[in-house]
Amino acid sequence: MVKAVVTGAAGRMGKRIIGIINDTQGIALAGAVERQGHPFVGKNISELGLAGKDITLASGIEDVMDSGDVVIDFTTPDTSIKNLETAAAHKKAIVIGTTGFSTAQRSQIKELAHKTRCLLAPNMSVGVNLLLKILPKIAKTLGDDYDIEIIEAHHHLKKDAPSGTAMRIAEVIASAMERDLEKVAVYERKGITGERDRHEIGIQTIRAGDIVGDHTVMFGGLGERIEITHRAHSRDTFARGAVKAALWLVKQKNGLYDMHDVLAMR
Ligand code: NAD
Repeated sequence: MVKAVVTGAAGRMGKRIIGIINDTQGIALAGAVERQGHPFVGKNISELGLAGKDITLASGIEDVMDSGDVVIDFTTPDTSIKNLETAAAHKKAIVIGTTGFSTAQRSQIKELAHKTRCLLAPNMSVGVNLLLKILPKIAKTLGDDYDIEIIEAHHHLKKDAPSGTAMRIAEVIASAMERDLEKVAVYERKGITGERDRHEIGIQTIRAGDIVGDHTVMFGGLGERIEITHRAHSRDTFARGAVKAALWLVKQKNGLYDMHDVLAMR
């Protein structure tokens, strides 16, 4: 039985991850962690409306780390880096779903992953990971004659923009097209922008209501356009992916992995 510690346990994703752990064979909840000062800290997780184990919400990962084999972390970038450091010090595996890391933080994650097993993915759904696989091929086939625009939409409580998934989509397409994303990404347009440069990759953000997560990649040509869309209907698709990743990761060697490794899409 794999024992999991969930950080950000009272968050939108944390709650669903605990729900999926309870419904999945071979994995059990060993600890649940929230930020200091969270009103649920010290209470039983059943008070969060979560069925299952008799677990008290802890305010420090150190308090529960040794009871688990793997941490599942959907929190904030600073918290995830600290949790990765702690996981590495305790030789525990860690699945990180948090988005919004800076370039420096991503380098830090790469460095720390030498010391433990770490899986980092801005989107844990099967559908988005399949898109990440096929979009570079489509972009390359269409070539420079098709304008590339990425449009993402999420709920109004999301803290980072553009979404980590939109940025990952932009990265894989830019890399396939041999373009430097730093130079070609255009995040907003207003006023007299001039004609569109054919190498631009537009990344547009929408925040509205309770949208779980939509991503569209538009390839606009002359006389036609292709639009490829993924829509997440529920957070369970990400939570299922995270639990699957945790079960897979505990059996691996130290290093940095992503969902393509878990889903055998390499
Ligand atoms: P949320 O704000 O509902 O949940 C985050 C939780 O982390 C909150 O409960 C918060 O109190 C807690 N937290 C903050 N600091 C903490 C600390 N120091 N220790 C412990 N807990 C702490 O947000 P959410 O919608 O659950 O999303 C969380 C992250 O996951 C975001 O970065 C989001 O973009 C990302 N996300 C990733 C995927 C994916 O598939 N990879 C899917 C959905 C969301």
